[in-house]
Amino acid sequence: MPTIDGQRVVADLKRLAEFGRYKTGVHRPTYSPVDVESRHWLAEKLGEAGLDPVIDGIGNVIGRNPSAQRRLLIGSHSETQPYGGWLDGSLGVIYGLELARAFAEDPGCAEFGIEVAAWADEEGHYGNYLGSRSFTDALPEDEIDQTRGRDDGTPLREALERAGLAARPRERVDPKRYVGYLEAHIEQGDTLDTSGLRIGIVETIVGIWNYRISLIGEQNHAGTTRMVRRKDAGVAMVRLATRIHDCFPEIAGLRTVWTIGRILLEPNAPSVVPGHAEMQVQFRDADIDRLAVFEKSLHELVSEADRAGPCACEIETIARTEPRPMDPRFQDQIEAAAERHAPHMHMRLPSAAGHDAAVLSYRMPAGMMFIPSLRGISHHWSEDSKEEDIVLGAQVFADAAERILRSVR
Ligand SMILES: [Zn+2]
Repeated sequence: MPTIDGQRVVADLKRLAEFGRYKTGVHRPTYSPVDVESRHWLAEKLGEAGLDPVIDGIGNVIGRNPSAQRRLLIGSHSETQPYGGWLDGSLGVIYGLELARAFAEDPGCAEFGIEVAAWADEEGHYGNYLGSRSFTDALPEDEIDQTRGRDDGTPLREALERAGLAARPRERVDPKRYVGYLEAHIEQGDTLDTSGLRIGIVETIVGIWNYRISLIGEQNHAGTTRMVRRKDAGVAMVRLATRIHDCFPEIAGLRTVWTIGRILLEPNAPSVVPGHAEMQVQFRDADIDRLAVFEKSLHELVSEADRAGPCACEIETIARTEPRPMDPRFQDQIEAAAERHAPHMHMRLPSAAGHDAAVLSYRMPAGMMFIPSLRGISHHWSEDSKEEDIVLGAQVFADAAERILRSVR
């Protein structure tokens, strides 16, 4: 079994966190100067581990192993959320690097190759899963032309140019090259932390369905417009939002979640009756049938609001990702490795967050492993995990990778 060096893993994670350090977390948006610097550092580390590193035209850092007979691709993303945590994404990338080293140091694993990927922009500073979609042929050129930064509207082409990536070719997957794809990540939720368990085996990455709902009323003077005459889009939106929150619990599963995370009022002024309002509704579940039930219910609530008046109500689908089951053989091998190193301290669970593994799973068998997030906090600079869990996770992951390389045909 390849043996990991826990101190080396922790030291590399801490070094990577220096790129864009913010308090105890990291601020490293995709294609920012510090992100580009960190990608060059990663490429160098992959080279030192004996891999052939390349940074491609979308920013993916990939370390190839040309000589192996059977290969696993291991990765995650290396940019962070704004003022985010030091482990989100980075953990899976550094685990990949450590596995490449541990496999190279183990004579019993000479025929196996670990290839490592740090995907670009999983966190959506520009698009969604740009790096892993580019690698799996799911990112067309015209989407790159049209994509802009979510904060300042910088065209993606310009950001790639400034990052020194524009002239580089984009690496594409050859699925035949791999037994499959493995990704480790912090859980980000609190399921493992509150149950005192140390390893999570991901069964499914949830589907995420997003909608924009518009309420169309009549903008008018907040003093002279009598209440009976008003078509207040703000009131209509609040009523509908309340209906949604009242009705969804009746159709929810144990782990269904829904969020109204963005609302807008026009013109959003104290003395004007709002003429237009908009909210975005999102729900997530591992069961596609349940997602369909939620969608039907949302459409019914919107029609009901529209019929009730006085404001018109419209719904538009923004994006729907399917739930992606992880390969059952990979789940079994991760579980067997977890049982060896942390007996009875592991569980199977869905991933409530989206991950690159969902994208990769369309092209090859994929699996995911979680370690606990302290208090379930993530996407915040205070995100953290116990050092002993980081080290244990790396060893379980290495063991699982070897089991998969030996057993899965
Ligand atoms: Zn992440």
